[in-house]
Amino acid sequence: MEMMGYIVKMEWEKLGFGPVSTDFMYSMKCCEDGNFVQGNLTHYGNIQFSPFAAVLNYGQGIIEGLKVNRKEDGRLLLFRPDQHALRMKMGAQRMCMPSPSIHQFIHAVKQTALANIRWVPPPGKGSLYIRPLLIGSGPVLGVGPAPEYMFLTYASPVGNYFKQDKTPLSLYVEEEEVRAFSGGVGGVKSVSNYGPVLKALVRAKSLGFSDVLYLDSVNKKYLEEVSAANIFTLKGNVISTPPTSGTILPGITRKSIIEIARGLGFQVEERSISVHELTEADEVFCTGTAVGVAAVGSVTYRGTRFEFKVGENTVCQALGSTLVGIQTGLIEDKEEWIINIH
Ligand code: PLP
Repeated sequence: MEMMGYIVKMEWEKLGFGPVSTDFMYSMKCCEDGNFVQGNLTHYGNIQFSPFAAVLNYGQGIIEGLKVNRKEDGRLLLFRPDQHALRMKMGAQRMCMPSPSIHQFIHAVKQTALANIRWVPPPGKGSLYIRPLLIGSGPVLGVGPAPEYMFLTYASPVGNYFKQDKTPLSLYVEEEEVRAFSGGVGGVKSVSNYGPVLKALVRAKSLGFSDVLYLDSVNKKYLEEVSAANIFTLKGNVISTPPTSGTILPGITRKSIIEIARGLGFQVEERSISVHELTEADEVFCTGTAVGVAAVGSVTYRGTRFEFKVGENTVCQALGSTLVGIQTGLIEDKEEWIINIH
């Protein structure tokens, strides 16, 4: 790996979505008074805490994920960091944790991006993914909230989330495992949401599917979301997506796509979508920071494969290119979603 100006020289085309060690990370500690202090940058490296740490034993932790893009003129653009900060705050409340202020969160993300500026891919080649992590780092033995918390932000350059770029996703409707249930933590980005879906995800991938589409836990009938993305369907001029009533993550991309679609004249409904409605959908797509707006080519349910329109002149493509245009500074940011950090 060589340095070229401000950018690390690497084979950006080969960049996927995996951990790449960068130069710096940012951390802050919080003691019993609930205030985060001593935020500072350190060299990227392993972190140390007690084996009794609450996050390791009882899953008291919240993650976030957001991207920094490099514009042609060299500026770095951050997409809706305030929304990610707010979601972490809400998640922290649910997990009985103190959280950094919105200002502290955004400051940490900016510091992490600037300190790792050489890892932000050239325009069009990917993004620098920033991972904020809030964990119960203090020791516990009986079940209870940690006596100490740590907030950490670190970064990795990323390309496409799914290995086959541009290939439409094939989703498998999961009927055995449930991702979330009413009263649980499906609506927040708790670390405890991801371990339990691995079994279904690995099984679906071993059968050749790209990802899993989860159903509601009560009726096993209504669409919920994908492992790390929200789901949308299109029928005529109507775009539908499941409501954020506690069991699905309120995606920032989801929210942005709803606004973009309404701006383009689509009718957008947040409502329960029965798996049987897939028989009539024109298009299906997923949204998320990591996946962007990803076309779904097929959904398989009880051995039947439903297929949807993909490719040129689809609504999915129009929405996706508008979103990417805003995120990369090519389309005017009328809603003030972008923060310039460099
Ligand atoms: N659903 C889940 C379970 C996720 O982990 C994510 C990723 O953050 C999303 C949806 C999409 O959310 P966002 O658009 O905020 O990245």
